[in-house]
Amino acid sequence: MSDSQTYNLKPDDKIQFLKGVGPRRAQVFARMGIHTVTDLIEHYPRNYDFLPPLTLIEELNPDHNVTVVGQVAAIDFKRRSRPPKLDIKLRDSTGTCPVVFFNGQYLKDKFLPGDMLAIWGKVSKYRDNLQFTNPRFIQLESAEELLQHEKVGRPVYPATTDLSSLEITRVISNSLEAMVQTVAERYDEPYRKKRKLPTRRQSFQWIHQPPDEEAILQARRSLAYDELLLMELGIALKREKIKRTQPAWPFPIDDNIDSRIRKLFPFILTEDQDTVIDEICEDMGQSEPMNRLLQGDVGAGKTVVALYAALLAVSHHAQVAIMAPTEILAEQHSLSIEKFLGESKVKRMLLTGGLTGKQRAAQLAPIAAGEIDIVVGTQALLQKDVKFQKLGLVVIDEQHKFGVQQRQDIRGKNLAPHYLVMTATPIPRTLGMTVFGDLDISIIKQLPPGRREVVTSWINDGARAKAYESIRKQIQLGRQAYFVYPRVEDTAPDYDEDGNLIPIDPEQIAMFQLKAAVAEHEILQNEVFPEFKVGLLHGRMEREQKQQIMEQFRAGEIQILVATVVIEVGVDVPNATIMVVEHADRFGLSQLHQLRGRIGRGSLQSYCLLFGQPRNEVAQKRLEILTRTNDGFLIAEEDLRIRGPGEIFGTAQHGLPNLKIADILRDTDLLRMARRDAFEIAAQDPQLRQDTPSRRELRRALIQQFGPTLKLGDVG
Ligand code: ADP
Ligand code: MG
Repeated sequence: MSDSQTYNLKPDDKIQFLKGVGPRRAQVFARMGIHTVTDLIEHYPRNYDFLPPLTLIEELNPDHNVTVVGQVAAIDFKRRSRPPKLDIKLRDSTGTCPVVFFNGQYLKDKFLPGDMLAIWGKVSKYRDNLQFTNPRFIQLESAEELLQHEKVGRPVYPATTDLSSLEITRVISNSLEAMVQTVAERYDEPYRKKRKLPTRRQSFQWIHQPPDEEAILQARRSLAYDELLLMELGIALKREKIKRTQPAWPFPIDDNIDSRIRKLFPFILTEDQDTVIDEICEDMGQSEPMNRLLQGDVGAGKTVVALYAALLAVSHHAQVAIMAPTEILAEQHSLSIEKFLGESKVKRMLLTGGLTGKQRAAQLAPIAAGEIDIVVGTQALLQKDVKFQKLGLVVIDEQHKFGVQQRQDIRGKNLAPHYLVMTATPIPRTLGMTVFGDLDISIIKQLPPGRREVVTSWINDGARAKAYESIRKQIQLGRQAYFVYPRVEDTAPDYDEDGNLIPIDPEQIAMFQLKAAVAEHEILQNEVFPEFKVGLLHGRMEREQKQQIMEQFRAGEIQILVATVVIEVGVDVPNATIMVVEHADRFGLSQLHQLRGRIGRGSLQSYCLLFGQPRNEVAQKRLEILTRTNDGFLIAEEDLRIRGPGEIFGTAQHGLPNLKIADILRDTDLLRMARRDAFEIAAQDPQLRQDTPSRRELRRALIQQFGPTLKLGDVG
């Protein structure tokens, strides 16, 4: 700390010039992504090591993990022994004990007789003597000093084989004071006081060198808040900007429109549906574009809600685009819309791909002329040649495929349309505030009345014959069944030498699925259920052929449908009450839940039978969770816990920030607080122009993190 130079550190200074670093170590740090002072000070301890219990030398026992405090009574470096070793005699008031450091040459000038040391580690027995071998240690000025270490422990840093946690500790503690001086405050005092946050400088000091455990908690909380606030502020400012720069048509609701729409539904909407519709009407009544995510389990009744929103737009003479991820699903939507709109004057069209030239032009002309009210289709609706006269609402059914990026594409020229995104993958609230942070969230939890929970069981291969018999009975009662096959063969994930996942060739997977499904179809038809008609549906079939099979299944001409995962989306056959999933252990949790959503769609009791031999505990746990609950949110949270958010959503693609200290699953209260604060700041000061040092710092940090995408600079 003597060199005054370190007191003039800047946040972006290279760490190479810090005491104890140098060019070689700087390279090792660089490999861990640590280049600057800021990187280093944000390299947070993973946890804290506490010292084992303090013991007197005369009370030592072999194999106990303990701490001893004593004075160096003698010190002797044996260069010639193999390996070279440093022998120390450590003495306390009750006796002496040998301490051996193999390869201890680096310590030989460090200790002098009379020095006070605390050492800790496992006691070993060597030729009737108890001794410590290469223990961990600290040099103490006084015995009292140890009290501090006992209370708070020592930071344990994420480390590598080239750079131990202890070395990192030394480097950080060498320069901590100077590094902390580079930290600027982002919040003024009243703001901090109200939220009980210590200053940022204090937090950095404490996270690396905590005086007690309470300080660790406070520092963690403050630094995690900081991270979450930046993230939420990025989201909030983006939204403010859209609000201010992209006006939309307001579509106010009134009793007349409301009752005309409701008359089309042959049932009473559930409470959840009503609540969500209120939220949507509130949004669509504004001249800011709605940006809403509608979550609800399969069969929860999202389509009806979307149709309500569509009809509201249509009642104001605007057009609506409804997009589905697959053609089958687009057709499904189109069918269910027909079911409700049969007699009405609303003009609708199913826009399929595949047409070209004049035919396509003829199909598109009435859309451009504004003669069509509701257009249903796939992503093909985003193609450039599709023009609308007055596009007021875009509904995107993502099921579990998140193509959130594409939302922006259809916006443009005129006034911005309102957006409603539907998903059947329940996203835990906290993730919703991050991954889909720029969307408002509506949730339908309740299922329509009369639904029964699907009974799910996990069946041992030995009980297969019995299970088939119970399926036979159900089908004799007039029910229908799905048999689903995943990627079969051995498609467990492979890793390369660096531990990266090797992607499996989708072609290959499709082949495997196909082979398995085809073979299984034959066995089921010829050997197991010869008295029924067993159909086969897979991704490689021609569209017409697929439609034909689906039609036969819907009509009840086929009793058993063998399928690869194509049925995951877009099949609605209430009479199908049985689902058999083969190799269920190879499916993801959410995927299995999605699949299961294809049954239990009427008032009949449905059964889901999972076959599979889980190879490990995790796979087994997944299956158990499914047998226990039908609650999609619970399942999603378990899935998240097992797989982690990155794997589910793909970090980069969905802008999930790389959080260093906050944990969005654990820090839910902090996240909520940060979100509220961020939206308040964004509303009051959308350009972050307030002229205070803390606001300027916040602005700087934000621009650094989000870069030009935020465009904080360019709007006057
Ligand atoms: P989702 O799109 O969420 O998967 P759907 O909108 O397709 O669900 O609804 C599933 C089924 O439930 C459909 O057959 C639909 O007509 C029916 N349904 C929706 N809402 C209700 C309700 N409030 N009461 C009775 N049936 C309903
Ligand atoms: Mg649906």
